[in-house]
Amino acid sequence: MSSAASTKPVSLVTGGAGFLGSHLCDRLLSEGHRVIAIDNLITGSIENIAHLAGNPDFRYIKQDVTQYLYIPDALDYIFHMASPASPIDYLELPIQTMKVGALGTHNALGLARAKNAALLLASTSECYGDPLVHPQTEDYWGNVNPIGPRGVYDEAKRFAEALTMAYHRFHKVDTKIVRIFNTYGPRMRLRDGRVVPAFIGQALTGQPITVFGDGSQTRSFCYVADLIDGIFRLMMSGFHEPVNIGNPHEMTIKQFAERIRDRVAPGAEIVYKPLPVDDPKVRQPDISRARRELGWEPKVSFDEGITRTIEYFRGRVTAAA
Ligand code: UDP
Repeated sequence: MSSAASTKPVSLVTGGAGFLGSHLCDRLLSEGHRVIAIDNLITGSIENIAHLAGNPDFRYIKQDVTQYLYIPDALDYIFHMASPASPIDYLELPIQTMKVGALGTHNALGLARAKNAALLLASTSECYGDPLVHPQTEDYWGNVNPIGPRGVYDEAKRFAEALTMAYHRFHKVDTKIVRIFNTYGPRMRLRDGRVVPAFIGQALTGQPITVFGDGSQTRSFCYVADLIDGIFRLMMSGFHEPVNIGNPHEMTIKQFAERIRDRVAPGAEIVYKPLPVDDPKVRQPDISRARRELGWEPKVSFDEGITRTIEYFRGRVTAAA
């Protein structure tokens, strides 16, 4: 490979063909890194990285990160992004979700140690479960049901955080932990079950918008470019404790449904369906730590981000029709 002898930093991205992973690959390439993406494509899609084929600084390896990772290259950074990440996905893939959070994280940390590379773990606001502290600060330990349907994701990520801190403290690996709050943007799967593609897809195809419960539960939505910027800054920082990255702009799911309806299909019906088990009632990141340690805060407004996202899904829905 022509770039093998280059002095560019080398980054490995697990889950590199996923929604966040693929955007991260783009950002790293634009920062002048060589990038190796690993993905087994169970929830990722080769389409997300198709535009990088032929780029001499990019390589894709189809592999399951829960299997032994053999990477001959020197590595500087490992971003462990691989995991099913929507409630529907981890209901359908409960064992894989636990394995990638546990065994996948172990392999990624082992690789970081062997290569003397820094590792960033993509963790989640689900570590806080159905939170009793609002907004959520990183020192809150959470309110998680270990045996509920979301437990496979929440507990795998909590285990992954514990293992990451163990590698940091015991093996002195340079680790970072980002707790990612609800993020949206182009390359989300239309049918991944998450509320952003669900509502936009429904509104674009003339179906009723399905609000779960009474819609009084809240979420705070971060545009993908902001999230990736926070992740990049965290990796480049010397900070090892978990950092929330998300947009504190909070709204109820009913308000979100109305905003999508008003923008995409003003006549659309909003219907109410049962609330999934253990669905968190509130969620909003406290981003004081990210502001202080990383000089980061979100820049893309909801209107701007949602406009770009609607345009992306408009193209997908037309392509699927
Ligand atoms: N939700 C909804 N209708 C849908 C999909 C999701 O009302 O068609 C709700 C869901 O119950 C939750 C919120 O939207 O309260 C966000 O759900 P999502 O699956 O995006 O992720 P979560 O934040 O729960 O992990």
